[in-house]
Amino acid sequence: MQNLILLAYLGAAVLFILGMKRLQSPATARRGNRLAAIGMLIAVAATLLLQRILSPVEMIGGFVVGAAVGMLLARRVAMTSMPELVAVFNGFGGLASALVAGGEIARYLSGGAGEGAVARTVQSMAALAPLDVPAAITVVLCILIGTITFSGSFVAFGKLGGHLSGNPVSFPGMRVLTVLVTLGALGAGGYLIYGAGGSFAAMDMQAIMWGALVLGFLSLVLGILLVIPIGGADMPVVVALLNAYSGLAAAATGFMLDNTALIVSGALVGASGLILTSIMCEAMNRSLLNVLLGGFGGDSDGSGPTVEGARPDLTVQETSVEDVAIELTYAEQVIVVPGYGMAVAQAQHQVRELSDMLQAQGVTVKYAIHPVAGRMPGHMNVLLAEADVPYDQLYEMDDINNEFGMTDVSLVIGANDVVNPAARTDKTSPIYGMPILDVDRSRTVVVLKRSLRPGYSGIDNMLFYHDNTRMLFGDAKESLAKLVAAVKDL
Ligand code: NDP
Repeated sequence: MQNLILLAYLGAAVLFILGMKRLQSPATARRGNRLAAIGMLIAVAATLLLQRILSPVEMIGGFVVGAAVGMLLARRVAMTSMPELVAVFNGFGGLASALVAGGEIARYLSGGAGEGAVARTVQSMAALAPLDVPAAITVVLCILIGTITFSGSFVAFGKLGGHLSGNPVSFPGMRVLTVLVTLGALGAGGYLIYGAGGSFAAMDMQAIMWGALVLGFLSLVLGILLVIPIGGADMPVVVALLNAYSGLAAAATGFMLDNTALIVSGALVGASGLILTSIMCEAMNRSLLNVLLGGFGGDSDGSGPTVEGARPDLTVQETSVEDVAIELTYAEQVIVVPGYGMAVAQAQHQVRELSDMLQAQGVTVKYAIHPVAGRMPGHMNVLLAEADVPYDQLYEMDDINNEFGMTDVSLVIGANDVVNPAARTDKTSPIYGMPILDVDRSRTVVVLKRSLRPGYSGIDNMLFYHDNTRMLFGDAKESLAKLVAAVKDL
Protein backbone atom coordinates (compact mmCIF):
# COMPACT_ATOMS: atom_id res chain seq x y z
CA MET A 1 0.00 0.00 0.00
CA GLN A 2 2.82 2.36 0.94
CA ASN A 3 4.46 1.75 -2.44
CA LEU A 4 1.20 2.48 -4.24
CA ILE A 5 0.89 5.78 -2.39
CA LEU A 6 4.45 6.72 -3.24
CA LEU A 7 3.86 5.83 -6.88
CA ALA A 8 0.74 8.02 -6.93
CA TYR A 9 2.75 10.88 -5.37
CA LEU A 10 5.47 10.47 -7.98
CA GLY A 11 2.85 10.63 -10.74
CA ALA A 12 1.31 13.72 -9.14
CA ALA A 13 4.72 15.44 -8.87
CA VAL A 14 5.44 14.74 -12.55
CA LEU A 15 2.03 16.20 -13.49
CA PHE A 16 2.69 19.33 -11.36
CA ILE A 17 5.99 19.92 -13.13
CA LEU A 18 4.61 19.25 -16.62
CA GLY A 19 1.67 21.53 -15.78
CA MET A 20 3.97 24.35 -14.69
CA LYS A 21 6.07 23.92 -17.81
CA ARG A 22 2.96 24.41 -19.95
CA LEU A 23 2.00 27.56 -18.05
CA GLN A 24 4.95 29.22 -19.78
CA SER A 25 2.92 29.92 -22.91
CA PRO A 26 -0.68 31.14 -23.22
CA ALA A 27 -1.18 28.53 -25.96
CA THR A 28 -0.60 25.64 -23.56
CA ALA A 29 -1.52 27.26 -20.23
CA ARG A 30 -5.04 25.82 -20.03
CA ARG A 31 -3.80 22.29 -20.59
CA GLY A 32 -1.03 22.90 -18.05
CA ASN A 33 -3.54 24.03 -15.47
CA ARG A 34 -5.64 20.93 -16.10
CA LEU A 35 -2.64 18.60 -15.80
CA ALA A 36 -1.61 20.11 -12.46
CA ALA A 37 -5.20 19.87 -11.19
CA ILE A 38 -5.32 16.18 -12.13
CA GLY A 39 -1.99 15.72 -10.30
CA MET A 40 -3.49 17.28 -7.18
CA LEU A 41 -6.60 15.11 -7.45
CA ILE A 42 -4.42 11.98 -7.66
CA ALA A 43 -2.35 13.07 -4.63
CA VAL A 44 -5.42 13.85 -2.52
CA ALA A 45 -7.30 10.71 -3.56
CA ALA A 46 -4.25 8.49 -2.91
CA THR A 47 -3.78 9.97 0.56
CA LEU A 48 -7.42 9.77 1.60
CA LEU A 49 -8.31 6.43 0.06
CA LEU A 50 -5.15 4.38 0.37
CA GLN A 51 -4.43 5.52 3.90
CA ARG A 52 -8.08 4.80 4.73
CA ILE A 53 -8.69 8.30 6.06
CA LEU A 54 -12.01 8.63 4.23
CA SER A 55 -14.34 6.12 2.59
CA PRO A 56 -14.92 6.50 -1.17
CA VAL A 57 -18.41 7.89 -0.50
CA GLU A 58 -17.11 10.52 1.92
CA MET A 59 -14.38 11.43 -0.52
CA ILE A 60 -16.73 11.85 -3.46
CA GLY A 61 -19.07 13.92 -1.26
CA GLY A 62 -16.18 16.22 -0.30
CA PHE A 63 -15.04 16.40 -3.90
CA VAL A 64 -18.49 17.42 -5.18
CA VAL A 65 -18.98 20.10 -2.50
CA GLY A 66 -15.43 21.47 -2.88
CA ALA A 67 -15.57 21.48 -6.69
CA ALA A 68 -18.98 23.21 -6.66
CA VAL A 69 -17.76 25.99 -4.34
CA GLY A 70 -14.52 26.39 -6.33
CA MET A 71 -16.32 26.53 -9.67
CA LEU A 72 -18.88 29.02 -8.42
CA LEU A 73 -16.18 31.30 -7.02
CA ALA A 74 -13.98 31.07 -10.10
CA ARG A 75 -16.89 31.76 -12.47
CA ARG A 76 -18.25 34.69 -10.51
CA VAL A 77 -14.99 36.51 -9.93
CA ALA A 78 -14.16 39.30 -12.39
CA MET A 79 -10.72 39.21 -14.04
CA THR A 80 -9.85 42.49 -12.27
CA SER A 81 -10.56 40.79 -8.92
CA MET A 82 -8.33 37.78 -9.58
CA PRO A 83 -5.59 38.92 -7.14
CA GLU A 84 -8.28 39.00 -4.40
CA LEU A 85 -9.28 35.41 -5.17
CA VAL A 86 -5.64 34.32 -5.08
CA ALA A 87 -5.23 36.12 -1.74
CA VAL A 88 -8.14 34.15 -0.30
CA PHE A 89 -6.73 30.86 -1.65
CA ASN A 90 -3.34 31.63 -0.08
CA GLY A 91 -4.97 32.58 3.21
CA PHE A 92 -6.85 29.29 3.40
CA GLY A 93 -3.69 27.38 2.42
CA GLY A 94 -1.80 28.99 5.30
CA LEU A 95 -4.68 28.39 7.71
CA ALA A 96 -4.86 24.72 6.66
CA SER A 97 -1.16 24.24 7.47
CA ALA A 98 -1.50 25.92 10.87
CA LEU A 99 -4.66 23.93 11.66
CA VAL A 100 -2.97 20.64 10.77
CA ALA A 101 -0.15 21.44 13.20
CA GLY A 102 -2.63 22.59 15.86
CA GLY A 103 -4.86 19.56 15.27
CA GLU A 104 -1.96 17.16 15.57
CA ILE A 105 -0.84 18.78 18.82
CA ALA A 106 -4.40 18.63 20.19
CA ARG A 107 -4.77 15.00 19.12
CA TYR A 108 -1.58 14.03 20.83
CA LEU A 109 -2.37 16.01 23.99
CA SER A 110 -5.78 14.38 24.27
CA GLY A 111 -4.10 11.00 24.35
CA GLY A 112 -4.54 10.06 20.67
CA ALA A 113 -1.78 8.09 19.05
CA GLY A 114 0.32 9.86 16.49
CA GLU A 115 3.37 8.87 14.54
CA GLY A 116 4.30 12.03 12.67
CA ALA A 117 6.59 14.86 13.62
CA VAL A 118 4.09 16.38 16.04
CA ALA A 119 3.89 13.21 18.07
CA ARG A 120 7.67 12.95 18.07
CA THR A 121 7.98 16.61 19.03
CA VAL A 122 5.46 16.50 21.82
CA GLN A 123 6.89 13.26 23.13
CA SER A 124 10.35 14.70 23.20
CA MET A 125 9.09 17.97 24.64
CA ALA A 126 7.47 16.04 27.43
CA ALA A 127 10.70 14.08 27.78
CA LEU A 128 8.99 10.85 26.81
CA ALA A 129 11.25 10.20 23.87
CA PRO A 130 14.72 11.08 22.63
CA LEU A 131 15.40 14.61 21.35
CA ASP A 132 13.71 15.60 18.11
CA VAL A 133 14.61 19.19 17.40
CA PRO A 134 14.13 19.04 13.58
CA ALA A 135 10.59 17.76 14.06
CA ALA A 136 9.83 20.59 16.49
CA ILE A 137 11.19 23.12 14.01
CA THR A 138 8.76 21.95 11.31
CA VAL A 139 5.81 22.18 13.72
CA VAL A 140 6.80 25.69 14.77
CA LEU A 141 7.30 26.77 11.12
CA CYS A 142 3.90 25.39 10.18
CA ILE A 143 2.14 27.43 12.83
CA LEU A 144 4.28 30.56 12.34
CA ILE A 145 4.23 30.79 8.52
CA GLY A 146 0.73 29.35 8.13
CA THR A 147 -0.85 31.86 10.50
CA ILE A 148 1.08 34.87 9.16
CA THR A 149 -0.05 33.86 5.65
CA PHE A 150 -3.64 33.54 6.81
CA SER A 151 -4.03 36.93 8.47
CA GLY A 152 -1.76 38.75 5.99
CA SER A 153 -3.72 37.35 3.03
CA PHE A 154 -7.03 38.43 4.44
CA VAL A 155 -5.73 41.97 5.02
CA ALA A 156 -4.49 41.96 1.40
CA PHE A 157 -7.93 40.70 0.28
CA GLY A 158 -9.62 43.52 2.24
CA LYS A 159 -7.34 46.16 0.71
CA LEU A 160 -7.70 44.87 -2.84
CA GLY A 161 -11.47 44.59 -2.59
CA GLY A 162 -11.89 48.02 -1.00
CA HIS A 163 -13.24 46.50 2.26
CA LEU A 164 -10.26 48.09 4.04
CA SER A 165 -8.57 51.38 3.14
CA GLY A 166 -5.97 50.91 0.41
CA ASN A 167 -3.83 53.59 2.00
CA PRO A 168 -0.76 52.51 3.95
CA VAL A 169 -1.84 52.33 7.62
CA SER A 170 0.52 53.18 10.43
CA PHE A 171 0.24 54.44 14.00
CA PRO A 172 2.74 55.73 16.56
CA GLY A 173 4.88 52.91 17.90
CA MET A 174 3.85 50.50 15.16
CA ARG A 175 7.39 49.50 14.21
CA VAL A 176 8.25 48.88 17.89
CA LEU A 177 5.08 46.82 18.29
CA THR A 178 5.95 44.79 15.17
CA VAL A 179 9.45 44.10 16.51
CA LEU A 180 8.03 43.10 19.93
CA VAL A 181 5.41 40.78 18.39
CA THR A 182 8.08 39.23 16.13
CA LEU A 183 10.33 38.64 19.13
CA GLY A 184 7.38 37.22 21.08
CA ALA A 185 6.49 34.79 18.27
CA LEU A 186 10.11 33.73 17.86
CA GLY A 187 10.34 33.34 21.65
CA ALA A 188 7.27 31.11 21.76
CA GLY A 189 8.60 29.05 18.84
CA GLY A 190 12.04 28.86 20.45
CA TYR A 191 10.43 27.76 23.71
CA LEU A 192 8.76 24.83 21.97
CA ILE A 193 11.94 23.87 20.10
CA TYR A 194 14.06 24.28 23.24
CA GLY A 195 11.59 22.07 25.05
CA ALA A 196 11.89 19.47 22.32
CA GLY A 197 15.63 19.61 22.81
CA GLY A 198 15.05 18.14 26.21
CA SER A 199 16.02 21.15 28.26
CA PHE A 200 12.62 21.34 29.86
CA ALA A 201 12.93 17.72 30.76
CA ALA A 202 9.58 17.54 32.43
CA MET A 203 7.83 20.07 30.19
CA ASP A 204 4.20 19.40 30.83
CA MET A 205 1.35 19.21 28.38
CA GLN A 206 -0.11 22.53 29.51
CA ALA A 207 3.14 24.32 28.68
CA ILE A 208 3.16 22.80 25.19
CA MET A 209 -0.41 23.83 24.55
CA TRP A 210 0.11 27.37 25.76
CA GLY A 211 3.35 27.67 23.81
CA ALA A 212 1.54 26.69 20.60
CA LEU A 213 -1.43 28.97 21.30
CA VAL A 214 0.77 31.99 22.04
CA LEU A 215 2.81 31.27 18.91
CA GLY A 216 -0.38 31.06 16.78
CA PHE A 217 -1.87 34.25 18.24
CA LEU A 218 1.31 36.34 17.88
CA SER A 219 1.82 35.10 14.30
CA LEU A 220 -1.76 36.10 13.51
CA VAL A 221 -1.11 39.63 14.80
CA LEU A 222 2.21 39.71 12.96
CA GLY A 223 0.53 38.92 9.62
CA ILE A 224 -1.76 41.93 10.11
CA LEU A 225 1.06 44.25 11.25
CA LEU A 226 3.23 43.31 8.28
CA VAL A 227 0.59 43.95 5.61
CA ILE A 228 -1.39 47.01 6.82
CA PRO A 229 1.50 49.48 6.30
CA ILE A 230 1.78 48.48 2.62
CA GLY A 231 -0.12 50.59 0.05
CA GLY A 232 -3.14 48.94 -1.63
CA ALA A 233 -1.45 49.35 -4.99
CA ASP A 234 1.40 47.05 -3.94
CA MET A 235 -0.99 44.34 -2.81
CA PRO A 236 -0.49 42.15 -5.92
CA VAL A 237 3.22 41.86 -5.03
CA VAL A 238 2.29 41.07 -1.43
CA VAL A 239 -0.17 38.43 -2.67
CA ALA A 240 2.60 36.80 -4.74
CA LEU A 241 4.88 36.82 -1.70
CA LEU A 242 2.14 35.36 0.53
CA ASN A 243 1.62 32.73 -2.17
CA ALA A 244 5.26 31.75 -1.65
CA TYR A 245 4.70 31.68 2.14
CA SER A 246 1.67 29.42 1.76
CA GLY A 247 3.87 27.04 -0.27
CA LEU A 248 6.53 27.06 2.45
CA ALA A 249 3.89 26.39 5.10
CA ALA A 250 2.55 23.48 3.00
CA ALA A 251 6.06 22.07 2.58
CA ALA A 252 6.61 22.32 6.37
CA THR A 253 3.28 20.49 6.83
CA GLY A 254 4.58 17.84 4.44
CA PHE A 255 7.64 17.33 6.64
CA MET A 256 5.42 17.28 9.71
CA LEU A 257 3.14 14.60 8.29
CA ASP A 258 5.93 12.77 6.42
CA ASN A 259 3.95 13.41 3.23
CA THR A 260 6.05 13.58 0.05
CA ALA A 261 3.31 15.05 -2.18
CA LEU A 262 2.85 18.00 0.19
CA ILE A 263 6.59 18.60 0.37
CA VAL A 264 6.89 18.61 -3.43
CA SER A 265 3.81 20.76 -4.12
CA GLY A 266 4.66 23.15 -1.26
CA ALA A 267 8.20 23.57 -2.55
CA LEU A 268 6.92 24.23 -6.09
CA VAL A 269 4.42 26.83 -4.87
CA GLY A 270 7.06 28.43 -2.62
CA ALA A 271 9.64 28.65 -5.39
CA SER A 272 7.23 29.87 -8.08
CA GLY A 273 5.76 32.47 -5.69
CA LEU A 274 9.24 33.80 -4.97
CA ILE A 275 10.10 33.90 -8.70
CA LEU A 276 6.85 35.73 -9.46
CA THR A 277 7.53 38.23 -6.66
CA SER A 278 10.98 38.91 -8.04
CA ILE A 279 9.66 39.31 -11.63
CA MET A 280 7.08 41.86 -10.40
CA CYS A 281 9.66 43.81 -8.38
CA GLU A 282 12.09 43.82 -11.30
CA ALA A 283 9.42 45.00 -13.75
CA MET A 284 8.65 47.91 -11.40
CA ASN A 285 12.37 48.50 -10.75
CA ARG A 286 11.78 48.26 -7.00
CA SER A 287 13.35 46.06 -4.38
CA LEU A 288 11.19 43.77 -2.28
CA LEU A 289 12.24 45.76 0.79
CA ASN A 290 11.02 48.94 -0.87
CA VAL A 291 7.65 47.29 -1.57
CA LEU A 292 7.37 46.00 1.99
CA LEU A 293 8.42 49.25 3.65
CA GLY A 294 7.65 51.79 0.94
CA GLY A 295 3.97 52.60 1.51
CA PHE A 296 3.69 53.17 -2.26
CA GLY A 297 0.34 54.11 -3.85
CA GLY A 298 -3.01 54.80 -2.26
CA ASP A 299 -6.39 53.25 -2.90
CA SER A 300 -6.04 50.69 -5.63
CA ASP A 301 -8.78 51.86 -7.97
CA GLY A 302 -6.38 53.13 -10.59
CA SER A 303 -7.09 56.77 -9.80
CA GLY A 304 -4.25 58.56 -8.07
CA PRO A 305 -4.13 61.64 -5.94
CA THR A 306 -3.71 64.15 -8.77
CA VAL A 307 -6.77 65.90 -10.17
CA GLU A 308 -7.99 65.93 -13.76
CA GLY A 309 -6.00 68.07 -16.17
CA ALA A 310 -3.11 68.04 -13.75
CA ARG A 311 -0.85 70.22 -15.91
CA PRO A 312 -2.91 73.23 -17.01
CA ASP A 313 0.33 74.90 -18.18
CA LEU A 314 0.67 72.28 -20.92
CA THR A 315 -1.73 71.46 -23.73
CA VAL A 316 -2.93 68.09 -24.84
CA GLN A 317 -4.08 67.34 -28.36
CA GLU A 318 -7.51 65.80 -28.30
CA THR A 319 -8.54 63.76 -31.30
CA SER A 320 -11.79 62.33 -32.66
CA VAL A 321 -12.93 58.80 -33.49
CA GLU A 322 -13.04 59.64 -37.21
CA ASP A 323 -9.45 60.95 -37.29
CA VAL A 324 -8.13 57.90 -35.43
CA ALA A 325 -10.05 55.57 -37.77
CA ILE A 326 -8.38 57.20 -40.79
CA GLU A 327 -4.91 57.05 -39.21
CA LEU A 328 -5.35 53.40 -38.35
CA THR A 329 -6.50 52.32 -41.80
CA TYR A 330 -3.64 54.20 -43.51
CA ALA A 331 -1.04 52.69 -41.17
CA GLU A 332 1.35 49.93 -42.18
CA GLN A 333 1.92 48.78 -38.61
CA VAL A 334 -0.19 49.38 -35.51
CA ILE A 335 0.90 48.28 -32.03
CA VAL A 336 -1.85 47.87 -29.45
CA VAL A 337 -0.70 48.52 -25.86
CA PRO A 338 -3.29 47.28 -23.38
CA GLY A 339 -3.27 48.29 -19.70
CA TYR A 340 -5.34 48.20 -16.56
CA GLY A 341 -8.03 50.44 -18.14
CA MET A 342 -8.74 47.82 -20.82
CA ALA A 343 -9.43 45.34 -18.02
CA VAL A 344 -11.69 47.81 -16.18
CA ALA A 345 -13.61 48.62 -19.38
CA GLN A 346 -13.69 44.93 -20.44
CA ALA A 347 -12.80 46.18 -23.91
CA GLN A 348 -10.84 43.12 -25.10
CA HIS A 349 -13.53 41.92 -27.54
CA GLN A 350 -13.75 45.35 -29.21
CA VAL A 351 -9.93 45.43 -29.43
CA ARG A 352 -10.00 42.10 -31.23
CA GLU A 353 -12.77 43.24 -33.58
CA LEU A 354 -10.88 46.40 -34.50
CA SER A 355 -7.60 44.59 -35.07
CA ASP A 356 -9.34 41.95 -37.24
CA MET A 357 -10.77 44.69 -39.43
CA LEU A 358 -7.42 46.44 -39.74
CA GLN A 359 -5.64 43.21 -40.60
CA ALA A 360 -8.25 42.48 -43.25
CA GLN A 361 -7.19 45.78 -44.82
CA GLY A 362 -3.54 44.77 -44.82
CA VAL A 363 -2.41 46.58 -41.65
CA THR A 364 0.05 44.64 -39.47
CA VAL A 365 -1.27 44.58 -35.89
CA LYS A 366 0.83 43.53 -32.91
CA TYR A 367 0.13 43.61 -29.19
CA ALA A 368 2.81 44.79 -26.77
CA ILE A 369 2.54 43.23 -23.32
CA HIS A 370 4.32 44.84 -20.38
CA PRO A 371 5.07 42.34 -17.57
CA VAL A 372 3.14 44.39 -14.98
CA ALA A 373 0.41 45.86 -17.17
CA GLY A 374 -2.86 45.52 -15.30
CA ARG A 375 -2.90 44.32 -11.73
CA MET A 376 -1.13 40.99 -11.96
CA PRO A 377 1.39 39.38 -14.27
CA GLY A 378 -0.34 37.79 -17.24
CA HIS A 379 -3.48 39.93 -16.72
CA MET A 380 -3.46 41.20 -20.31
CA ASN A 381 -2.60 37.79 -21.81
CA VAL A 382 -5.61 36.22 -20.09
CA LEU A 383 -8.00 38.96 -21.23
CA LEU A 384 -6.77 38.89 -24.82
CA ALA A 385 -6.91 35.08 -24.85
CA GLU A 386 -10.53 35.36 -23.69
CA ALA A 387 -11.21 37.42 -26.85
CA ASP A 388 -9.34 34.81 -28.97
CA VAL A 389 -6.54 37.15 -29.99
CA PRO A 390 -3.97 34.84 -31.65
CA TYR A 391 -1.02 34.22 -29.33
CA ASP A 392 1.51 34.87 -32.07
CA GLN A 393 0.39 38.51 -32.19
CA LEU A 394 1.34 39.03 -28.53
CA TYR A 395 4.89 40.32 -27.93
CA GLU A 396 6.73 40.71 -24.66
CA MET A 397 8.30 44.07 -23.88
CA ASP A 398 11.87 43.12 -24.77
CA ASP A 399 10.79 41.60 -28.07
CA ILE A 400 8.82 44.60 -29.30
CA ASN A 401 10.50 47.69 -27.88
CA ASN A 402 12.76 48.03 -30.93
CA GLU A 403 9.73 48.09 -33.22
CA PHE A 404 8.05 51.24 -31.93
CA GLY A 405 10.43 53.39 -33.99
CA MET A 406 9.07 51.69 -37.14
CA THR A 407 5.42 51.86 -36.11
CA ASP A 408 2.85 54.28 -37.50
CA VAL A 409 0.33 54.20 -34.68
CA SER A 410 0.63 52.95 -31.10
CA LEU A 411 -2.86 52.48 -29.70
CA VAL A 412 -2.57 52.77 -25.92
CA ILE A 413 -5.72 51.33 -24.37
CA GLY A 414 -6.09 52.18 -20.67
CA ALA A 415 -2.35 51.87 -20.04
CA ASN A 416 -0.55 54.63 -18.22
CA ASP A 417 2.45 53.87 -15.96
CA VAL A 418 3.81 51.18 -18.29
CA VAL A 419 4.19 53.77 -21.08
CA ASN A 420 5.35 56.73 -18.95
CA PRO A 421 8.59 58.07 -20.51
CA ALA A 422 9.54 59.60 -17.13
CA ALA A 423 10.75 56.11 -16.22
CA ARG A 424 13.43 56.58 -18.88
CA THR A 425 14.12 60.30 -18.73
CA ASP A 426 13.28 61.84 -15.34
CA LYS A 427 15.77 60.88 -12.65
CA THR A 428 13.58 62.46 -9.97
CA SER A 429 10.54 60.34 -10.86
CA PRO A 430 9.61 57.58 -8.38
CA ILE A 431 9.32 55.21 -11.34
CA TYR A 432 12.70 56.18 -12.83
CA GLY A 433 14.43 53.02 -14.04
CA MET A 434 11.24 50.98 -14.43
CA PRO A 435 11.40 49.32 -17.87
CA ILE A 436 8.59 50.71 -20.06
CA LEU A 437 7.12 50.20 -23.52
CA ASP A 438 8.67 52.91 -25.72
CA VAL A 439 5.42 53.97 -27.41
CA ASP A 440 6.61 57.60 -27.58
CA ARG A 441 9.06 56.52 -30.29
CA SER A 442 6.29 55.63 -32.73
CA ARG A 443 5.07 58.13 -35.34
CA THR A 444 1.72 58.72 -33.62
CA VAL A 445 0.51 57.65 -30.20
CA VAL A 446 -3.24 57.47 -29.60
CA VAL A 447 -4.18 57.16 -25.92
CA LEU A 448 -7.65 55.89 -24.98
CA LYS A 449 -8.57 56.83 -21.40
CA ARG A 450 -11.23 58.82 -19.64
CA SER A 451 -9.21 61.74 -18.30
CA LEU A 452 -5.68 62.94 -17.62
CA ARG A 453 -5.69 61.25 -14.23
CA PRO A 454 -2.56 59.25 -13.43
CA GLY A 455 -2.48 55.48 -13.09
CA TYR A 456 -1.60 53.24 -10.23
CA SER A 457 1.58 55.05 -9.23
CA GLY A 458 -0.16 58.42 -8.94
CA ILE A 459 2.45 60.05 -11.19
CA ASP A 460 1.62 62.41 -14.06
CA ASN A 461 2.42 61.12 -17.52
CA MET A 462 4.19 63.58 -19.83
CA LEU A 463 3.42 61.28 -22.77
CA PHE A 464 -0.05 62.86 -22.93
CA TYR A 465 1.54 66.24 -23.74
CA HIS A 466 3.98 65.03 -26.42
CA ASP A 467 3.66 66.47 -29.95
CA ASN A 468 3.00 63.05 -31.46
CA THR A 469 0.37 62.05 -28.88
CA ARG A 470 -3.39 62.31 -29.44
CA MET A 471 -5.86 61.74 -26.61
CA LEU A 472 -9.15 59.98 -27.33
CA PHE A 473 -11.08 60.57 -24.12
CA GLY A 474 -13.84 58.22 -22.98
CA ASP A 475 -14.44 54.73 -21.70
CA ALA A 476 -12.17 52.39 -23.67
CA LYS A 477 -14.96 49.98 -24.61
CA GLU A 478 -17.20 52.75 -25.92
CA SER A 479 -14.36 54.46 -27.82
CA LEU A 480 -13.35 51.18 -29.43
CA ALA A 481 -16.93 50.34 -30.41
CA LYS A 482 -17.15 53.75 -32.10
CA LEU A 483 -13.79 53.16 -33.79
CA VAL A 484 -14.98 49.81 -35.16
CA ALA A 485 -18.07 51.51 -36.59
CA ALA A 486 -15.98 54.34 -38.05
CA VAL A 487 -13.49 51.97 -39.71
CA LYS A 488 -16.44 50.04 -41.19
CA ASP A 489 -17.85 53.26 -42.65
CA LEU A 490 -14.60 54.28 -44.35
P1 NDP B 1 -2.23 52.17 -14.77
O1 NDP B 1 -2.80 51.77 -13.45
O2 NDP B 1 -0.97 52.92 -14.77
O3 NDP B 1 -3.28 53.06 -15.55
C1 NDP B 1 -4.54 52.59 -15.88
C2 NDP B 1 -5.28 53.69 -16.59
O4 NDP B 1 -6.50 53.14 -17.06
C3 NDP B 1 -5.66 54.84 -15.70
O5 NDP B 1 -4.79 55.93 -15.89
C4 NDP B 1 -7.11 55.15 -16.07
O6 NDP B 1 -7.21 56.49 -16.55
C5 NDP B 1 -7.39 54.20 -17.21
N1 NDP B 1 -8.75 53.65 -17.13
C6 NDP B 1 -9.41 53.18 -16.06
N2 NDP B 1 -10.64 52.80 -16.41
C7 NDP B 1 -10.77 53.03 -17.74
C8 NDP B 1 -11.82 52.85 -18.67
N3 NDP B 1 -13.01 52.34 -18.32
N4 NDP B 1 -11.59 53.19 -19.96
C9 NDP B 1 -10.41 53.72 -20.35
N5 NDP B 1 -9.38 53.92 -19.49
C10 NDP B 1 -9.57 53.57 -18.20
O7 NDP B 1 -2.18 50.86 -15.65
P2 NDP B 1 -0.95 50.14 -16.39
O8 NDP B 1 -1.52 48.86 -16.85
O9 NDP B 1 -0.32 51.07 -17.36
O10 NDP B 1 0.10 49.91 -15.26
C11 NDP B 1 -0.09 48.98 -14.22
C12 NDP B 1 0.42 49.54 -12.92
O11 NDP B 1 0.11 48.63 -11.89
C13 NDP B 1 1.92 49.75 -12.93
O12 NDP B 1 2.26 50.92 -12.24
C14 NDP B 1 2.42 48.54 -12.17
O13 NDP B 1 3.65 48.75 -11.53
C15 NDP B 1 1.30 48.35 -11.18
N6 NDP B 1 1.27 47.01 -10.65
C16 NDP B 1 1.06 45.99 -11.51
C17 NDP B 1 1.16 44.71 -11.04
C18 NDP B 1 1.02 43.57 -11.98
O14 NDP B 1 1.45 42.48 -11.62
N7 NDP B 1 0.47 43.76 -13.16
C19 NDP B 1 1.39 44.42 -9.63
C20 NDP B 1 1.54 45.59 -8.81
C21 NDP B 1 1.46 46.83 -9.33
P3 NDP B 1 -8.59 57.29 -16.47
O15 NDP B 1 -9.02 57.22 -15.05
O16 NDP B 1 -8.24 58.66 -16.94
O17 NDP B 1 -9.54 56.60 -17.40
